[in-house]
Amino acid sequence: MTHQENSALIDRALSRRTASVPEIPEVLDWGNARALACKECGNETPLQPQHVCEFCFGPLEVVYDYERIAATTSRERIALGAPTIWRYADLLPAPNVEWVDIGAGWSRLIDAPRLAAELGLKKLWLKFEGTNPTHSFKDRVVTVALTAARAFGFKVAACASTGNLAGAVAAHAAASGMESVVFIPEGLETGKVAAAAVYGGRLIAVEGSYDDVNRLCAELCGVKDDWAFVNVNVRPYYSEGSKTLGYEIVEQLGWRSPDAVIIPVASGSLLTKVKKGLGELHQVGLLDEAPHTAIHGAQADGCSPVARAFEEGAEDFRPVKPDTIAKSLAIGNPADGYYALRDVRATGGTVTRIPEESVAEGMKLLARTEGIFTETAGGVTIATLEKLIREGSVTPDQETVALITGVGLKTIEALGDIGPSHVIGANVEAVDRALEETE
Ligand SMILES: *Cc1c(COP(=O)(O)O)cnc(C)c1O
Ligand SMILES: [Zn+2]
Repeated sequence: MTHQENSALIDRALSRRTASVPEIPEVLDWGNARALACKECGNETPLQPQHVCEFCFGPLEVVYDYERIAATTSRERIALGAPTIWRYADLLPAPNVEWVDIGAGWSRLIDAPRLAAELGLKKLWLKFEGTNPTHSFKDRVVTVALTAARAFGFKVAACASTGNLAGAVAAHAAASGMESVVFIPEGLETGKVAAAAVYGGRLIAVEGSYDDVNRLCAELCGVKDDWAFVNVNVRPYYSEGSKTLGYEIVEQLGWRSPDAVIIPVASGSLLTKVKKGLGELHQVGLLDEAPHTAIHGAQADGCSPVARAFEEGAEDFRPVKPDTIAKSLAIGNPADGYYALRDVRATGGTVTRIPEESVAEGMKLLARTEGIFTETAGGVTIATLEKLIREGSVTPDQETVALITGVGLKTIEALGDIGPSHVIGANVEAVDRALEETE
């Protein structure tokens, strides 16, 4: 491709960034995405709103024309792209409709020397997802899912959410003129509920856990056939959005893969897709060496089916009833738990669980050392990293990246009683007294 052609492409990509309701074209071009393929039997089916294989009920995944990608994409071309996940459109299901894009992705990879020193690591990076439009990594999956949904002609976006997905779906739907119907388990944090309700879509709380909500959505999907359920019938597109976290880490490290990465696990989709993304970059020639990254999953004790299976050496997990302060990770029957286990083992990583009390400690440690206020999931990640180093599963000289997937303002409940040490009169003596008492 010539430089002019490349610039024209990027201009076109940039001009697509505003979201509005498009005409659905008769014939869709999906960029380099070729088909859906079954992860179990490999059977391929055309790109459509479907998530299970019709032969063996295995999960479907988007597959690409990797030869074409290798021939056409380059580090330079990506660097010229938008500061969003759509800079990697060559490696995503990217239909020729207006993308539902409110700016997800291209979050900072933050050097964390103070936390590294405290943990005993030489080099630690934090991939901080709080700067996404709705303040969690879920914007990455939703921009891809709703873009696909719109390409298929859906007018309603629906989902089952542990909290962050709710806000991401409601916001992207609002900005693109779609309706949204979002289902959450009862008893979510106030911040998560408000951060979903504010966008004006429909928000419905369901009695039970996320797993009950998810079952309901699977059932609804068979009845409401004009709804796009982002984590059911358009899940293959949704989950591809998570790959971009892996892409960005590699690009931001100067096209290198790190030695270790720590990823919080709910359904396990994020973990498996970071692994897929690293492999793809090598396959298309953007990453010179095959990725050597050890991938570690992180869970809190109160909902740790994948970590327990890892400890037992089991091939698959046993579903549990979640009871954890880390509500964004409270999935007792994780859809990709089996694949997450397989993936961490293939990379020499682990799935590790930490005590419930460590979640808030992890949140405070990160805030105190690096000035970053994460939600409970980030607390799980930091506490897990600390444990991995203590046990020798991550060694001091391993260049490590921890995924900080959401922000603390949505989960202030987790910090318990936190507030000013004193309430004083407005005079200097009272300040001195208070300072003495808090020394
Ligand atoms: C959803 C979520 C995760 C885990 O994602 P999965 O792909 O379901 O494993 C991690 N962190 C936060 C903040 C989340 O909202
Ligand atoms: Zn199959």
